[in-house]
Order: sequence, then C-alpha cells, then structure tokens
Amino acid sequence: MSSETITAVVVDALQEIEEFIKNYKVDGRPKYRELVRRMILENRFDLEIDFNDIMSYNPKLAELLIRNPENTIKKFSKALRNVIEYEAPEYLEKIYEVIPRFKNLPFVYKIRDIRSDLVNKLIAVEGIVVRASPPKQKIVEAVYQHECGNEVVVPVTGDVVEKPVLCPYCHRSSGNWKLLEEKSRFRDFQRLVIQEKPEEMPAGRMPRSIDVDVYDNLVDVARPGDRVVVVGILKLRGSGSRRVKSLYDSYIEVNNIIVSQRMLEEIEITREDEEKIRELAKDPLIRRKIIASIAPAIYGLWDIKEAIALLLFGGVPKVLPDGTRIRGDIHVLMIGDPGTAKSQLLQYVSRIAPRAIYTTGKGATAAGLTAAVVRDKQTGEYYLEAGALVLADGGIACIDEIDKMREEDRVAIHEAMEQQTISIAKAGIVARLNARTSVLAAGNPRYGRYLINRSIAENVNLPPTILSRFDLIFVIRDVPNIERDSRLARHIAQVHAAEDITKPLIDADMVRKYIAYARKYVRPVLSEEAKKMLEEFFVEMRKKSLEVPDSPIAITARQFEALIRLAEAHAKMALKPIVGEEDAAEAIRLMKSMLESVGIDVESGEIDIDVIMTGKPKSQRDKMLIIENIIRTLAKEEGCAKIKTIIAKAKEQDIEDRLVEEVLTRMRREGLIYEARDGCYAPVM
Ligand code: ADP
Ligand code: ZN
Ligand code: MG
Repeated sequence: MSSETITAVVVDALQEIEEFIKNYKVDGRPKYRELVRRMILENRFDLEIDFNDIMSYNPKLAELLIRNPENTIKKFSKALRNVIEYEAPEYLEKIYEVIPRFKNLPFVYKIRDIRSDLVNKLIAVEGIVVRASPPKQKIVEAVYQHECGNEVVVPVTGDVVEKPVLCPYCHRSSGNWKLLEEKSRFRDFQRLVIQEKPEEMPAGRMPRSIDVDVYDNLVDVARPGDRVVVVGILKLRGSGSRRVKSLYDSYIEVNNIIVSQRMLEEIEITREDEEKIRELAKDPLIRRKIIASIAPAIYGLWDIKEAIALLLFGGVPKVLPDGTRIRGDIHVLMIGDPGTAKSQLLQYVSRIAPRAIYTTGKGATAAGLTAAVVRDKQTGEYYLEAGALVLADGGIACIDEIDKMREEDRVAIHEAMEQQTISIAKAGIVARLNARTSVLAAGNPRYGRYLINRSIAENVNLPPTILSRFDLIFVIRDVPNIERDSRLARHIAQVHAAEDITKPLIDADMVRKYIAYARKYVRPVLSEEAKKMLEEFFVEMRKKSLEVPDSPIAITARQFEALIRLAEAHAKMALKPIVGEEDAAEAIRLMKSMLESVGIDVESGEIDIDVIMTGKPKSQRDKMLIIENIIRTLAKEEGCAKIKTIIAKAKEQDIEDRLVEEVLTRMRREGLIYEARDGCYAPVM
C-alpha cells in the first residue's frame, strides 16, 4: 500500500505541476499562464514561481520540491514546456530548456546554520556577496569522440570534465578520446562567494562563507557588496570525481538570486514603533537623550558622542543638475592616546548601527578596506573581492587603527570616501563597486602619544589628502586631571559593578529603530536662515585668513559641505523636516571645536586648515623657507653648511633647533640636500 502511494506521487508529479501552472489563479486570472505568455513575448527562457502559490495550491508538491529538488525542478521545466507547446509550439525550437526560478521559500537560512542534513535539498540562504569570478563559459555536456569514430555525450557535474571510461560502441576501455568543443554544450557561468552579513556575525568570530555557482542569465546579476537571498540546491563538491575524499566542501547550485533593495526593509518598524518614535521626537531634549544613549559605559567624550550620533543619522545626499553626486554620509576620525576608549566606542557603534562593520586598518581579509583582485588558492582563479567599505555599503564602516592601513587601501580610500565608489582594474577584472559608507575611524598617534606642540599631520600616519576627507576630526588626549580622573574612576567602577549608569536613556533597540526611521523618512531641507548662518561663518573664516597678509586659508569648500551635512544630520536627529538656525549653530560649534583642536597652527595660534589639508602649517612653512635659505647661503659661501652654524643662524631668527633638524631630515629625504662631509650639508644641484 505504502509503496503504491509513493509511486503514485512520483508518477503524478508532472501532471500535478502542469495543473498548478494551468489552473493557479489570482483574482480569477491564471497567473502562470499569463507569465508564460509574457516570457515568450520577452524572449526569455526563465520564469519566476512564487513558492507560496505552490504551498496554497498543492502543499504536497511544495514539499516534494524542497525534498527532492533536482528531479522536481526538471519536472517543472517539462511541465512548462508542455504548457508552451500548447500556447506557442514554435517557441520551443528557439530555446534549449525552460528554467523555473523559485522565490519566497518559507525559510531563509543563515550560512552559519547550514547543516549536512540539507544536502541535496532546495534551500534559501541569505548573505552578502564578497567575491565574484569573471563570467566564464562552462561545459555542461561534453561530446567525446572515441578512436572508433563514435561520439558519446557526457554530462558534466563537477569542476572537471571526465572522459568516458568505456566506449559503448566498441566496448573498449582503452583508446584515445577527443573532446568535440563545437558539439559540446556550454553555459555562462560564474562563481560567487557569499558570506554572512557583518551585522549578524557573532562578535569575534571568523565570518562563514559558501560558494555559489550561477548559470545563464543569473551571471553578473549580483556584485560584490550586494546583499542577496540565494535559492538553490545544497551540493557537495568532489562527489562524482573518481578520487574519493572524506571531507567535502558544500556549495549551492543556484536556482534563483534575489538582490535585496538597499537597507530599506532590514529593520522592521511596526505601527507602534512609529508612534513611539514620533512621541520621542517631540521631547525637546531628544538629541541630548540620544547622544547620552551612545556608549553609556564610556565616560565623557560628549562632543565625540555627538559627532557619532550625527554620523549615524547622516546628512542628505544630493545630485546636482550636472549629475555630480554630493555625499550625505558623514566621516568622523578620532586620533588619540592609547586607552582612551576609542576601540570601545567603535565596537559599540558597530553593534548598535543598522548596518555596520568593525574592522581594523590592516583589514580582516585580503580585500582589506576597499577591494582587491585575489587569486583563489585552490583553483588558481582570479576573483574580485569586496573589502569593508563595500560590505558596509549603505551603512557604517568602523575602522580601528586606520593609520595601519595597507598601501593599496591608502590609494583607493580617497575615491571611496568622496565619490563613494571603488574602481578596480586588475588581472582582467574591471569593476566599480558601491561604497556609500560612513567612515568612523580611530587612529593612534605616530609617536605613541599625541604631541601637543606638533601638527595633526605630524601626529598621525595618514596623508593630508585622507585627513581632509573627514568632516570632523577629534584629538583625545589622556592628560592627568585629578578631578576628571576621580570621576572617571568612579564611573568605570560603577560600570564594573554593573550599576544602572550603563543603562541607556533610550534602549539600544529603540535607538536603532529611531535611526533607521529617520534615515528612511526624514530629508531635512536647509532653511534660508540656516543657510545664511553657515555662509556667514564660512565667509568670515575665509575673510579672517585674508585680513592678515599671507595668512593661512582658514576653511575650504570641503568644510562648507561638511557644515551642511552636520546641520542636516542635527535636524534629522529630531525628525525635523527643516534645518533651522539651532542646527546650523551646532554644526558651527562642532566645526570650530575641531579646528581648534586639530587645525590650529601650533606656531602662530591661528586656525589653519592647511595643517589638515597639506600637513604643513603656513608659519612653519615660512620658517622652513628661512632654514632652506640659510643652508643655501652657507653652502655657497663655504662649500657646505655645517649643522652647528645652521642652528646658530636659525636661533638668530627665533627658530628652534628641533625645526632645523626636522627640515634637514625632510630635505634629505626629498633629495634636496646631501651630506657632503660629516655634519655638513650641500644642496643637490
Ligand atoms: P583605545 O582603543 O583608545 O586604546 P580602549 O577602547 O581599548 O582604548 O580602552 C581601554 C580601556 O579603558 C577600556 O576598557 C575602556 O573601557 C577604558 N576607558 C578608557 N577611557 C574610558 C572612559 N572615558 N570611560 C570609560 N572607560 C574608559
Ligand atoms: Zn569506441
Ligand atoms: Mg584601540
């Protein structure tokens, strides 16, 4: 009896599928017949089938599809063929096969949860594409010709094409076989690697990934950095080959790929949530409460927490009439002494932000911070691999120890931070990946501690071109201060005693929802007053730099754009549709405080954005010129310039020894002078 029912299911499957395709109706209209007609019109060979439809029409069939997909998909294909035969028989001559692509499976697995009992089942897996091979042609049916002249068709399942063992015509196992490429069937092929989403990764674990093989028109549908749901059959690589291994790698043979729309639907906000968010926004102290809810276990650092809050909300991206894109993402950098909670802050943000990734400058993978073309150790194939800024597209990249960034990233990060794309052309792979990512970075001072009498550019191992791309930069110095230290100690003690102070005013989950809601629905517009205020500040700062002849440029257009972004984010934080004066004022306050803490010319006391932009403050540059002149004059008079004499002459003009040494080192490094005799320098002609 039981054996009969099983046979019945198998025999009937094709017919039941055909019935489903013909008869499944939505609002009285046959959904899949119409889709078949459209497929023919659009000259396609694939068609999407909603798993929910199968479930509601014939649950047994749905189960069969999950449990025995290889066979059932073939039957779906056959059934579709039958329907086409009935609708438009001539179309069948144009296509090799019809491919049903399934979507909306009832369960979506995380890569971490894939287990061996799922092998050969149809599954849906979500993840982020981290690697993509260039598209290739793959043999799926090889035609071999034997010495005897007969041809044999060999289906190819794994990565290698294997010639037949025995000739079915002359019954010999020996003799030469020739692969007839022109008669073999090829399909477009690409191998992707998908990895678990960074925000879902348990802290401190290695990310898990799985290979994904895609064919035909699914090639190039997903790019590195894309978040996808992959529907396919879980398979084991290595099976089918003659060498039997005891360990198999699993991979997914793809049936369908759904690229998710960025960011939008990832955080669920219910009606009640929305009401609560709206209610919170009415509180006049809402911004202070949000800022106070950021890393409550960390004492002080209010301005930095505020900057982080602004970064989380972000400004409003704009597209100018000529197509130029101005980023809305805010970048923030902290440079600070060791043990000042920088890493703690970054880790906190990576936990609470809607889409964030924590990494270090060295990078966790070969792709580092941006992207790389890497060679797969096993297959020797080149892949395009996405780095942190691509993986965090649409979110936040928290980069610790950014000063230790790799050389390749130093070059590519400029484009990533301003244009928000990463272009790569290497080993035959040409691609441009999206990196619409806010950067929250921390760096350690070059000399171990931040030296107050040196400029920011001297203090941190980052080129000015990268520094200037940050909207706000903060210097955190660990200066002993009895009053502050005792409060800090008390705070840390309370944190360790797990007292209430670490409980945020608004809980992290709500903050996350609030931010997601603001990012999605609020796009504040600059009011006339705010605009005027920002412009006046900008003009004033520039004018100041003009009043003093030869004085440094105090502020550039980049800072002006940053001001607008900060003001927009400040308005967003209270869900305000208009950027008002209070928002502009706060942006100005933060900008000023940054200019004072890092941009200040340590020599003259003036605010000097040149320190950030070029790494050399104006007055110091003047002094360097004087020193250079001294060297040249001395060298002309005496053949070469003795260090002792240079220092003495410099002292006459109030220039300290330290600077002389520095200039000498720099000029030597730049190849302007050389040591002609011991301790005596001459210019290179
Ligand atoms: P950094 O990355 O700046 O070198 P860490 O983030 O590793 O420093 O912090 C070192 C330790 O000191 C952490 O345990 C951190 O919690 C503690 N700490 C430093 N500053 C503060 C602070 N302001 N409030 C609370 N804890 C702090
Ligand atoms: Zn033969
Ligand atoms: Mg650290």
